[in-house]
Amino acid sequence: MARAAIPRRLTWRVARLVETRDETPSARTLVLDVSGWPGHLAGQHVDVRLTADDGYTAQRSYSIAAPADGDRVELTVQRVPDGEVSPYLTEVFAKGDPVEVRGPVGGWFVWRPTDTAPVLLVAGGSGIVPLMAMVRARRAAGSRVPFRLIYSVRTPSDVYYADELRRRVRDDGGLDVAYAYTRAVPDGWPEPPRRLGVAAVNTAGWPPNLEPACFVCGPTGFVEAVADILVALGHDPRRVRAERFGPTGSPSGSPTGSPMGGTIGSPSGSPTGGPAGSPTGG
Ligand SMILES: Cc1cc2nc3c(=O)[nH]c(=O)nc-3n(C[C@H](O)[C@H](O)[C@H](O)COP(=O)(O)OP(=O)(O)OC[C@H]3O[C@@H](n4cnc5c(N)ncnc54)[C@H](O)[C@@H]3O)c2cc1C
Repeated sequence: MARAAIPRRLTWRVARLVETRDETPSARTLVLDVSGWPGHLAGQHVDVRLTADDGYTAQRSYSIAAPADGDRVELTVQRVPDGEVSPYLTEVFAKGDPVEVRGPVGGWFVWRPTDTAPVLLVAGGSGIVPLMAMVRARRAAGSRVPFRLIYSVRTPSDVYYADELRRRVRDDGGLDVAYAYTRAVPDGWPEPPRRLGVAAVNTAGWPPNLEPACFVCGPTGFVEAVADILVALGHDPRRVRAERFGPTGSPSGSPTGSPMGGTIGSPSGSPTGGPAGSPTGG
């Protein structure tokens, strides 16, 4: 894993699909075997390149969903209707098929098991992927650093890694998960669907005076809204790191790392798998 921190020229490597897991009706985890993979840190991503028979290529970025494990690299891809790459990766790409990957990319949006500050993770939709890598890295390292995850999804069936998150909350100790539903709520949920707002982030996050490390990931609009909320709540912008999952369709991709990532600015409390906020939130 230490090698991941050494700057070097990124080269394309051939990866093969060895396993798949369906996370939701429209998201699939792809376990790739990448010969010679140098290792990575939780939060980093890869560039994936597809090449058609006529030489046409398409390249997209995908976050790595699990901590380093030899030559294995796990991605979770959300199918974007009418997308060029994600429908292929989620519906056509089959075990044994090759794909090219380059990485790991990104050195800022990362969590290291040696980090000691409390952690607030805020995910919108597929933005959970690199944050799940952090949750898994914490588990793998036996870290006791307190983690809070606020996970905003459209409906209950859009939750990735649902069973594992339940297990981790139960077994890991010090990990709390709060959900926010924007379009439909589970039966018996105490609130109507709503977007994540100040009250919800304040309730399910950490108070700023604990100086948590905040990681926000999701669609660009979500990330910007949450970052604004965190700063408004008094978090130091330098402790808020963001990864925006905007379209990455440029033919040349993003060789130097997360072009839309960076520090934004920063969050804060009820964390046991309950709603992300009070009935007045949002
Ligand atoms: C650093 C980084 C990490 C990423 N990690 C992941 C990840 O872990 N899992 C994942 O599923 N995606 C991730 N993405 C998004 C991914 O790179 C692609 O943008 C996405 O898969 C769509 O590609 P596509 O070729 O299917 O769609 P395209 O052909 O590029 O786009 C088709 C249409 O969908 C719109 N669109 C494109 N991307 C999105 C999007 N993300 N959300 C909504 N609409 C979109 C486009 O504007 C266009 O109208 C990441 C992006 C970045 C920058």
